[in-house]
Amino acid sequence: MELNAGIPEGPVDEKWERHLEHIKLVGPNNRPKYDVIVVGTGLAGASAAASLAAQGYNVTSFCFQDTPRRAHSIAAQGGINAAKNYRDDGDTVYRLFYDTQKGGDFRSREANVYRLSQLSRNIIDQATAQGVPFAREYGGMLANRSFGGVLVSRTFYCRGQTGQQLLLGAYQGMQQQINDGRLKMNHRCELQDIVVVDGRCRGIVVRDLVTGEIRSHSADAVVLATGGYGNVYFKSTNAINCNVTAAWRAHRRGAGMANPCYVQIHPTCIPVSGNFQCKLTLMSESLRNDGRVWVPKEKNDTRPPEQIPEQDRYYYLEERYPSFGNLVPRDVASRNAKIVCDDGFGVDGEGSRAVYLDFKDALAREGHQVISERYGNLFQMYTDITGKSPYQVPFRIYPAVHYVMGGLWVDYNLMTNIPGLYAVGECNFSDHGANRLGASSMMQCLADGYFVLPQTIGDYLHDIYQDKVSSDQPEFKAVEQQVQERIDRLMGIGGKQTPLALHRKLGEVVWEHCGMARNAEGLRKAIGDIADIREEFWNDLLIPGGDKGVNQSLERAGRVSDFIDLADLMCRDALDRDESCGCHLREEHQTKEGEVIRNDEKFANVSVWEHKGDGEPHEKHEEPIDFEVLQPMTRSYK
Ligand SMILES: Cc1cc2nc3c(=O)[nH]c(=O)nc-3n(C[C@H](O)[C@H](O)[C@H](O)COP(=O)(O)OP(=O)(O)OC[C@H]3O[C@@H](n4cnc5c(N)ncnc54)[C@H](O)[C@@H]3O)c2cc1C
Repeated sequence: MELNAGIPEGPVDEKWERHLEHIKLVGPNNRPKYDVIVVGTGLAGASAAASLAAQGYNVTSFCFQDTPRRAHSIAAQGGINAAKNYRDDGDTVYRLFYDTQKGGDFRSREANVYRLSQLSRNIIDQATAQGVPFAREYGGMLANRSFGGVLVSRTFYCRGQTGQQLLLGAYQGMQQQINDGRLKMNHRCELQDIVVVDGRCRGIVVRDLVTGEIRSHSADAVVLATGGYGNVYFKSTNAINCNVTAAWRAHRRGAGMANPCYVQIHPTCIPVSGNFQCKLTLMSESLRNDGRVWVPKEKNDTRPPEQIPEQDRYYYLEERYPSFGNLVPRDVASRNAKIVCDDGFGVDGEGSRAVYLDFKDALAREGHQVISERYGNLFQMYTDITGKSPYQVPFRIYPAVHYVMGGLWVDYNLMTNIPGLYAVGECNFSDHGANRLGASSMMQCLADGYFVLPQTIGDYLHDIYQDKVSSDQPEFKAVEQQVQERIDRLMGIGGKQTPLALHRKLGEVVWEHCGMARNAEGLRKAIGDIADIREEFWNDLLIPGGDKGVNQSLERAGRVSDFIDLADLMCRDALDRDESCGCHLREEHQTKEGEVIRNDEKFANVSVWEHKGDGEPHEKHEEPIDFEVLQPMTRSYK
């Protein structure tokens, strides 16, 4: 496997501009002659599809939902970062770059992160022009708030529904292109595999989720914008159908999978309330702008929170991290919540897995009206789910799986190591290193889709002018047959366990051993347990119904089979990365206070795994990370 990131020469703040000056372009008259497939209609896919079509490319888009607007991105709540410095509080492109590098514990590419910071400003202009209703100050200026790990206010938001509003903006762009005939939308279609012809990705094979038909689509380039794989844990804040299938099937065809063990556990989610649950609910990080996190100082303090006086409360983040307080980054906040709960201070009895997030002071200071304007829908969501109003009692929160920093390896142009196959948004290994800062995912999705890919794709397409393939070619037929054989095999097992039951089992193993804390012994055990689950899956799976129509069990089974293989690789990656960094806490490498200890000498790199065939061990490759601008330092938020 060849990994050439293709980082342009020159000073970091000039790389992107210089790159644009030198990459090859496709002229406007020729763009309609190129077919581009975009799989996924979340923020990354919708923005990419709309922008490519607007440039004149002939775009075909796919998603498994019944409308692009139902992509998981619609759930994003708290906001999107941009270095606009509207608050005049010292923000710059460099500072956003610095915060992101430090937040990611120095495990991301400097050139990508700098470009992301530069482009962040264009995103706000673009979204505002589309009519995205960002919150505004009284005088009309766009409002900002803070997210974890930063000392400025650079997060633009639409109450707690920022993803929904941004997605509607991008969707509107798609609809315009559909109307103009440059974009064709295929709903309720699931990518089953990619097709590689003469070493280049030339199309995809999909299953129509309504009719069960298997069919091929050819193109000159394929863009995967298929989101993250947090649902490998079964319970996560992700939409229930988020999965790894597209990325994993591409991986099986040769695309490198990078840093699969980097998973973000979000500190402020509604705690698990029982085994029946298969979805967890996020309470946006923006709440930590005004809410204060605490636990009682005494273990087993059974008093209701509102009756516990100030002197009996332990505001552990404020005490341990005086500079950043409640706005420490997610990995730090999550780890600390785990530590206080492990130590027996969790609320509602010994060992309870919850801490308080309290708005008492903010309500007294700002008043009900202001707090409701900032967070009203989040307070309402919490009340609907728990029956308790955070206006009266503190939120009870606990960390939950939320986002993955791992994903398909891509170069500076966002192309995977398979020529013609691109990955954008959460499904690539992204710009966030070992930990993503809040409000930075949507920034990356939209930078990738609106501003990077539409400019870089020409560099590849230019050279394959009118070198067309057809979906009738044998390469496509062979993949269609393999897809059908896999489905037949799944349908034919005839066992007793549902895909849901096996998924739950898998999630428990990965959460236990490859979750917030990992160690070598646990990871080795998990690898053995996952092998057992794989065995059970392929021998005892039950899928009712048939494959020639809607069959959600079959859909889930295909996804779970990929999650099982991914889980194995995640544990191997976590075992191999014998250091702690960002969200990856190897218990063998931590300070007495539970802070991570990196090993820059050995692990200042991206781990990229190559699939070598079923039953064969993956081969590991490394992309070294160069530190030209910022030397890695111990990450402190104290
Ligand atoms: C509750 C919640 C709140 C969040 N809040 C914020 C926030 O405030 N700020 C922030 O920056 N980030 C936030 N995030 C993270 C952010 O929302 C996501 O990382 C981001 O939206 C991912 O976008 P995406 O376009 O990469 O993928 P997605 O939105 O997940 O879209 C994936 C698309 O791919 C399609 N797809 C997937 N697989 C296939 C397949 N095999 N075949 C066909 N189609 C397929 C799906 O149909 C879908 O259209 C939040 C996440 C959650 C869960």
